[in-house]
Amino acid sequence: MTFSLRYAALSDVGRVRRDNQDSGYAGQHLLVVADGVGGAARGDIASSVAVEAIRKLDVPPGNDALSTVAATIHLAHDRLAEIAEAHPDLDGTSTTVTAAIFDGTQLLVGHVGDSRAYLLRDGVLRQLTSDHTLVQSLVDEGRITEEEARVHPHRNLILRAVDGVHEPEPDLFGVPVQAGDRVLLCSDGCAGVLDSAALTARLAGEPLTDVAARLVTASLDAGSSDNVTVVVADVVDGEQTASGPLVVGAAASSPHLQIVSDKTGNLSESDVAALSAEPFDPEAIRYAPQPPPSRGWTARLLVLVLVLGLLGGAAWGAYEYSQSRYYVSSDGGPVTIYRGVDFDVPGLTLSHVVKETSYSLEDMGAFADEVLDGKDVDSLAIAERFILRAVCTSLGKASSAKPPPAGPFEGLGLRWADRPPKGIAALFPPPAYFPRLTGATPLDCSTTEEQTP
Ligand code: MN
Repeated sequence: MTFSLRYAALSDVGRVRRDNQDSGYAGQHLLVVADGVGGAARGDIASSVAVEAIRKLDVPPGNDALSTVAATIHLAHDRLAEIAEAHPDLDGTSTTVTAAIFDGTQLLVGHVGDSRAYLLRDGVLRQLTSDHTLVQSLVDEGRITEEEARVHPHRNLILRAVDGVHEPEPDLFGVPVQAGDRVLLCSDGCAGVLDSAALTARLAGEPLTDVAARLVTASLDAGSSDNVTVVVADVVDGEQTASGPLVVGAAASSPHLQIVSDKTGNLSESDVAALSAEPFDPEAIRYAPQPPPSRGWTARLLVLVLVLGLLGGAAWGAYEYSQSRYYVSSDGGPVTIYRGVDFDVPGLTLSHVVKETSYSLEDMGAFADEVLDGKDVDSLAIAERFILRAVCTSLGKASSAKPPPAGPFEGLGLRWADRPPKGIAALFPPPAYFPRLTGATPLDCSTTEEQTP
């Protein structure tokens, strides 16, 4: 008994991105979803190239369909390598590929990346593919749950893709089907926001075009900021009246052909402008290529996870530590207390103003040099005591120099730790100094001797 496929496909740019880098294909013998990765490096070209190469398999398959799928994914890889060679601007473009050949009794799946294939049978949804992502490897190791993976900060990071550089290593497997089965292939714009229950609910009903539309709408409503591509297919008894193949997403406009057909071999001016004007896009770092294939992929994955974990952990630890520190500094203006460290990493602000005091560098007296260098302290309280001590010491030193004046500071709420101030009026003429002393918080030097900063 052999079956045939009825199918529908839909791809939407989504509500956030400006272009659709997903591509999808559905035909009598073939279903494909490819999610282009690369941000500025034109993931739309990568996914289109992949679909263009793989759609040649939409013919009655031979005996060794799995090998054919693998070979065709390699063909896409070779095409991407050629394109990156001819157009260095496109270096770094890559794509996921989830392709299923249908031979009448089973699906023969080739899979690289984090697009997914599902099978709905008797109301039960089964995920056929396993994501090649960092979070999936953490789930597999039991370190995080599926739910945690869904909101993990690195949930977008994929570990395998078709990129024209690294030999693609597709997962290859066959899945027997029966009449009544419904197949879903989708990009992470859908599976990333809809869990199994949500997918199952939207997969019910007829016709398939409505099912596809419901899945896309539900993904967008669930907050997907990504491109969303779904291919749905029903396994039905007997022959179907042949309907034409469907091409959706980036592949529908064949952006790779526009670029490749450029006679100069260079990008057009508008392409270059588009590439250089591209702002930072998280898609650009979505794909983390693996180290060279010298070890088994499990070992490589482990190393990558470890390195990422260590780097991430160390960076996070360093940042956390930096944000537990305070320092006192002045760039010529007021003496200011900062949280963080007096050191900047490009793209990262490691310090924030906590409090701008009314004191100038001169008020710091003997501590002025330390302030100029950025005086590191453990806490805000210590920073405040340090400033107070500097000001008070500065005043105290002055006090030892000359006899105390009786008058000007009385009634200002000033208290002095040891000695009464002496000669202040002479060293700090009232017009310059009084406004600071008479501010909202009276200067209290009684605590400065208890603890050194
Ligand atoms: Mn995506």
